[in-house]
Amino acid sequence: MAFSVPAFLKKKLARNDIGIDLGTATVLVYVKGKGIVLREPSVVAVDSETNAILKVGREAELMLGRTPENIIAVRPLKDGVISQYEITLKMIQYFIRTACGNMLFPPRVVICIPSGITEAEERAVVNAATEAGAKQTFLIEEPVAAAIGAGLDISKARGIMVVDIGGGTTDIAVISLRGVVVSESIKVAGDKFDEAITQYVHNTYNVLIGGRTAELIKIKIGAVYKHKYPKTIEIKGRSLDTGLPKIINISSSEMLQALFEPISAIIDAVCSVVSRTPPELIGDIMQDGIIMTGGGSLIYGLDKLIADVTGIKTYIAKDPVSCVVIGTGHALEQLYDIPEGVINLSRSKAQR
Ligand code: ADP
Ligand code: MG
Repeated sequence: MAFSVPAFLKKKLARNDIGIDLGTATVLVYVKGKGIVLREPSVVAVDSETNAILKVGREAELMLGRTPENIIAVRPLKDGVISQYEITLKMIQYFIRTACGNMLFPPRVVICIPSGITEAEERAVVNAATEAGAKQTFLIEEPVAAAIGAGLDISKARGIMVVDIGGGTTDIAVISLRGVVVSESIKVAGDKFDEAITQYVHNTYNVLIGGRTAELIKIKIGAVYKHKYPKTIEIKGRSLDTGLPKIINISSSEMLQALFEPISAIIDAVCSVVSRTPPELIGDIMQDGIIMTGGGSLIYGLDKLIADVTGIKTYIAKDPVSCVVIGTGHALEQLYDIPEGVINLSRSKAQR
């Protein structure tokens, strides 16, 4: 009689294939068959004297701006690239272990990377994942994963335009036949919006606010288009006149001025990609529209502004923050027909 493996053992033996969205602000992990299992800030707290990693993710984020001198809380992927390799490696290791538990079988891992990443950085991501215990590592470019996650069919010879606004970078790409045809990646995104708000409050009210307060203002009342009924928020900062705490009220209509510079940079980049896109593909995009993903796409009115400037209808994906990891996970489900080795899924380039 043939031996049949009990269901509970089958589950234990099943390989934990995982997809990682290595975002500059947030890391999301998708496990095949389970969906999104982890969503944590890409922050690591490090002891500056011993270089030991103290905390990763949410607990490390709480330390940002609040640490004593010997502890530094860093965002190793701040600008969408690996600036601190050792720390990124430890972070990937932590997320893979947390998502997979004790690894009976090393997982196959698909990692989403920004489209502006260099080959050296690509290798660094692959090495980090391998050192972290991945059996095989596959890379996929962020706009490609975002398009898959938004439910679009990227295998057709039809132009798709994605604008992904994350924390550190805005990635704009036109995709056709699984590949990126035209793209641009700029280091202007959510973090720069926060900085612009901090600067505006400083210049207008002579009040100093922290990064977290600036982000809160952005999320609550950030706007690039006038609201019919403006919203206001009460915030606390430090008066630069007296050095004492001060409460001020800010309105959403002030955000148009505060965010002008970073938003203009994003609009310029979108226009530059549109102007470099072959006419056939532009025809497709005119019909289907531009799709926006990433947390930064949630700024009120940005979709409308892009539509006004380009003349192409623009819409925000259903779940803009999870889109990329969902797309990474779906790519994972097609891995069975991809040969051994490390392959960049969207560029079909083997990196053994
Ligand atoms: P990344 O892919 O770089 O990790 P995300 O796609 O997770 O980035 O987006 C993170 C950025 O989105 C942060 O700057 C965050 O402040 C911003 N963000 C999140 N929610 C909102 C919102 N509702 N309105 C505006 N910005 C938002
Ligand atoms: Mg992202």
